[in-house]
Amino acid sequence: MGKEFVKEITAMDEDFAQWYTDVVKKADLVDYSSVRGSMIIRPYGYALWENIKDELDRRIKETGHENVYMPLFIPESLLQKEKDHIEGFAPEVAWVTHGGEEELQERLCVRPTSEVLFGEHYKNIIHSYRDLPKLYNQWANVVRWEKTTRPFLRTLEFLWQEGHTCHATDEEALEETVKMLNVYAELCENILAIPVIKGQKTEKEKFAGAKFTYTIESLMHDGKALQSGTSHHLGDGFAKAFGIQFTDQKGKLQYVQQTSWGFTTRIIGAMIMVHGDDRGLVIPPKAAPTQVMIVPIAQHKEGVLDYAYDLKEKLSKIARVGIDASDKKPGWKFNEYEMKGVPLRLEVGPKDIEKGQVILARRDTGEKITVAASELEQKLPGILEDIQHSLFEKAKNHREEKTYQAFEFNELKEIFAAKTGFVKAMWCGDRSCEDRIKEETGATSRCIPFEAESITKTCVCCGKEAQQLVYWAKAY
Ligand code: AMP
Ligand code: ZN
Repeated sequence: MGKEFVKEITAMDEDFAQWYTDVVKKADLVDYSSVRGSMIIRPYGYALWENIKDELDRRIKETGHENVYMPLFIPESLLQKEKDHIEGFAPEVAWVTHGGEEELQERLCVRPTSEVLFGEHYKNIIHSYRDLPKLYNQWANVVRWEKTTRPFLRTLEFLWQEGHTCHATDEEALEETVKMLNVYAELCENILAIPVIKGQKTEKEKFAGAKFTYTIESLMHDGKALQSGTSHHLGDGFAKAFGIQFTDQKGKLQYVQQTSWGFTTRIIGAMIMVHGDDRGLVIPPKAAPTQVMIVPIAQHKEGVLDYAYDLKEKLSKIARVGIDASDKKPGWKFNEYEMKGVPLRLEVGPKDIEKGQVILARRDTGEKITVAASELEQKLPGILEDIQHSLFEKAKNHREEKTYQAFEFNELKEIFAAKTGFVKAMWCGDRSCEDRIKEETGATSRCIPFEAESITKTCVCCGKEAQQLVYWAKAY
């Protein structure tokens, strides 16, 4: 292949951060804008987001939620109603101070999340146990003035959905919190082929204003962890701050129990960093905007293009199929769709037509498979299924290879000095140990896994009695 076909990307092992930047740019996912930390999501990136969004939206509706839309702005007085919430979000809130030339009487913040907007609304519409549960979701953009940013992973403005629900009892709210975390986990594993650890955040890492936070954590190719979605049990903290009360069946006035949960464009960054390789993106078939890209060979020869378009029409009934019939050379096209992570390339030229066959090239393994044209429709779904499955298995093996255990503090320090990955270690539950671990290793507590384990009786940091096992990691 001629040098002119090769779009250079930095090798992963050479500089992973640069590799990531190269891939998001060269696969045409994003472009930078003139606003620091904000990105332009280009058509290919947006198509990817739309697929994820559609899959998640379907699941959100299947679990009984309704979509709504809230205002973009929050008056300062409203944001201040819940003390922990404002304290947590204040450092990263953007303020609107003027409307035209006129200074506003009250500053408006650009929503970093919408608990308070929902709180105000819920107070107005919930009165009786008959009004419960309220299961609302919104698809929106939010703004958090982040210090360091990176496309998808951490941007000033990002796209997400935020679920906000109200329940009559604590048990119901807890059930909802778990249910929606499971929805995120299932989506990550089955659609994006990203294995996740489900667990609870420590007090230090929980959402500002929540009773507790559940999280899914995934491990990137470079061994750093990424918080990939969160589900919060809000208890009655916001309900008390906003006066969201209902009369129960016995006529008694009660505060509602609430949850909130969010999933963002960050997950595209996770997908890139879990599956990508030195040739660029690798997209799991279920998430891919184009699952099969047809590249006609010697397309100027009679009959080739007609044949290729016929194939496209036929296969479009069972998969998302594209065709590149432009006058660029096949070598350029091969390179382009590898860079873009299209799961399968279908090559067909005059000789293949003669033999009644096509060539399929797998993006994940590079394997080339010759398939009889007559069997293509029957075989294609199984091949896509196999790619999906093997990407998940590969990611899971990678995570397992990079998951360590530490029993003593020295060991913990040595592991984080030499390697990246998850380290499982016991913890006493004290904030001071969590802080010390961060200071001396750079790793943070990722979660207390739902699948509880006990590997020693003592805290890895202080040696006192351990309360639970924690996954620690350096994280994005
Ligand atoms: P939170 O409302 O703080 O629980 O955030 C919900 C989810 O948003 C988190 O689990 C992260 O995965 C994601 N997230 C947080 N900050 C950003 C950001 N700046 N850009 C993209 N995603 C983010
Ligand atoms: Zn300790």
